[in-house]
Amino acid sequence: MISDLRQSLLHWYRAVGRDLPWRMSRDPYEIWISEIMLQQTQVKTVIPYYQRWLEQFPTIAALANADQQQVLKAWQGLGYYARARNLHRAAQFIVQQYNGHFPDQMAAVLALPGIGRTTAGGILSAAFNQPLPILDGNVKRVLARLVALALPPTKEIAQLWQLSETLLDSLHPRDFNQALMDLGATLCTPHKPNCQLCPWSRHCQAYNLGVQSQVPMSESRPPIPHKLIGVAVIWNDREQILIDRRRQEGLLGGLWEFPGGKLEPGETVEACIVREIQEELGIEISVGDRLITVDHTYTHFRVTLYVHHCRYIRGEPQPLECDEIRWVTLAEIDQYPFPKANVQIIEALRTA
Ligand code: SF4
Repeated sequence: MISDLRQSLLHWYRAVGRDLPWRMSRDPYEIWISEIMLQQTQVKTVIPYYQRWLEQFPTIAALANADQQQVLKAWQGLGYYARARNLHRAAQFIVQQYNGHFPDQMAAVLALPGIGRTTAGGILSAAFNQPLPILDGNVKRVLARLVALALPPTKEIAQLWQLSETLLDSLHPRDFNQALMDLGATLCTPHKPNCQLCPWSRHCQAYNLGVQSQVPMSESRPPIPHKLIGVAVIWNDREQILIDRRRQEGLLGGLWEFPGGKLEPGETVEACIVREIQEELGIEISVGDRLITVDHTYTHFRVTLYVHHCRYIRGEPQPLECDEIRWVTLAEIDQYPFPKANVQIIEALRTA
């Protein structure tokens, strides 16, 4: 049965596998970039970013030598910015430790920031044809259906890794892993899998039991918290706006933003903005009209940003709770990397 699963999958892949730009490459750097971009982002979004990235940072050394702000700017819009910071740090480490050559040993790859077992397996199998299994979100779903897993995948991770390893075709690990990812992305999709066209339908237990839409079982998740944030677009007399750079550690670290903070219970948006700006920057402002309200959902919480035009009154701005602050004009603001929710504020400023 295992050899039939291998052969049928490889046969299917060679006939209808996706033609993706990184598939042609055997350069571990290029494959690494694609693997990291694909971690949380869909293929069609990734392709233009991937191509621009390789034009801007064609080698590991070029990435290592870049300024972090350039790296974050190139990533702007892809989200999960820790991925970009980790790529940058890992490139610097590879230059120092391996003379700029991406390592080809599992332990060395796993030691790089931002690389877990499935990403390491994906890179080493694609670049060097090493027989290492993978288990990303798509593969978990396919394998869970193949064996009609009776529990959510997170409860059976060891079993799923074992299955991925057992099935892997050690003669063709590169193609096998790529094929498995394609199966999950194109036929064995989360909703309405296309089992009629699937090379594994003969052996797939979920399909044969008619439960493919109920597997994998969903993880039970608590509802995500909702944060209400007052945000200030602070203008001075020279038509400049005050922006700050978030601390390196934590969500969106190293990106620029408009200052502000969380509403306290019973507080008005205006009072929140005045208090936060005093605490964060040590200055006095007056709060004017609402510019825009922005809703944004991250993985673990949702935010609503109440954004107001504000006027600088007095005090020397200081980076009390951020890394850096700057007065910039609207024309200059595009040089700075901002998170998606803040990009909407910039667009609103341009059209206001
Ligand atoms: S038969 Fe259906 S459920 Fe099973 S692996 Fe194929 S697409 Fe997925």
